[in-house]
Amino acid sequence: DKTLIRFCSSKSSASQSQSQSPLAWQIGQYGGNSTLKLTECQMPVIKKANEVLIKQVHAASVNPIDVKNRSGYGAVFLNKARGVKPGDEFPLTLGRDCSGVVAEIGRGVRDIKEGDNVWTTINAVRQGTFADYVIATTDEVGLKPSNLTHIEAASIPYVATTNWSAIYAVAKIRPANALGKRALILGGSGGVGTFGIQLLKAWGVNVTVTCSENAFDLVYGLGAHHAVDYKSPNILEELLKHGQYDLIVNTIGESMEDMSVKLIKEKAYAQYVTLVAPFIDEMEKKGLFAGGLSSSLMLFQKSRKFSALGGTYRWAFAQPNSFALKEVAKLVEDGKIKPVIDETFDFQDLPAAFERVEKGHLRGKVVVNVA
Ligand code: NDP
Repeated sequence: DKTLIRFCSSKSSASQSQSQSPLAWQIGQYGGNSTLKLTECQMPVIKKANEVLIKQVHAASVNPIDVKNRSGYGAVFLNKARGVKPGDEFPLTLGRDCSGVVAEIGRGVRDIKEGDNVWTTINAVRQGTFADYVIATTDEVGLKPSNLTHIEAASIPYVATTNWSAIYAVAKIRPANALGKRALILGGSGGVGTFGIQLLKAWGVNVTVTCSENAFDLVYGLGAHHAVDYKSPNILEELLKHGQYDLIVNTIGESMEDMSVKLIKEKAYAQYVTLVAPFIDEMEKKGLFAGGLSSSLMLFQKSRKFSALGGTYRWAFAQPNSFALKEVAKLVEDGKIKPVIDETFDFQDLPAAFERVEKGHLRGKVVVNVA
């Protein structure tokens, strides 16, 4: 491993020679941080017409999902989607997004060319982005905003496509209908929340967030209209001070649900969307079929609580989305969305970056500098 770390450090400024094997942080089993190994691996090869090879991954972000996946979260569901038996997914490279340079394109690729600076959120079923080289499809990749460095850019794709999925795809709040709506983000100071504030604000939504008091300056600086300390004993009253909400995005968990029923507008269009759904946990505990069934039942029961008031209860999941990346790139270039980075780590220190995410209390994103 020491040889690999030396090699990794020495390539930081020089471009990597074609004769050297690419490196990736891989796991051979699920577990703690000691399962992460910096490994020489084979060069990924384009197999489909719509794929691009991102030769130089410059930077990638570390998300709570990477930490969970390292410990085995989602393996049952993902192995089914990969079409492999348990254990055959190893060696597995984690990481969902990155910013880098295109080396090669499949024969069906039109809008991206060799040498383009791109950013991407890739599908979790494939090998991930904590690597020198990554394969992405045209559905997953977009041109990096020209006004950001690769490190800044890498902090955005995963949380952007997560928010897009919750707000645009699931809640159907879009630039054309957003103006004047009131949204509440439960958890405004982390990776997802800091991006969500900026996206909603850019579309003309009045945004309230919950966060720790020491994050108020950050969230107001990003454009939040109101911030409420989630430790306040009067949290419900404070959140209702300006009325109920057209949209609630929950990044915290089920503990927020009963309160949210009182906060959502009693209108058919009002949407409660949670990013912390029990779907994967149920499948891990009970298997694909029984877990799928019990989560459907939960979804039905929870939906009834909200629909009794007129609103709608939904789950949302991060989805690769090149259209979202293109729209977000415009907002970034217009100065309406800024990267929010808590801390940056060198590629060889990826385990320390995982530790930082596990420690929690993030203010924005953790990014690893690969190049
Ligand atoms: P982060 O770790 O970046 O941020 C979490 C933030 O929440 C921190 O700033 C933390 O700060 C704050 N926080 C903790 N407790 C509360 C609380 N009770 N109320 C309000 N804020 C609180 O995580 P992400 O933003 O990246 O992700 C958030 C959640 O969303 C994770 O559980 C993640 O797994 C999930 N997620 C789900 C996706 C999906 O596809 N469904 C996709 C992406 C994320 P502090 O503790 O200092 O207050």
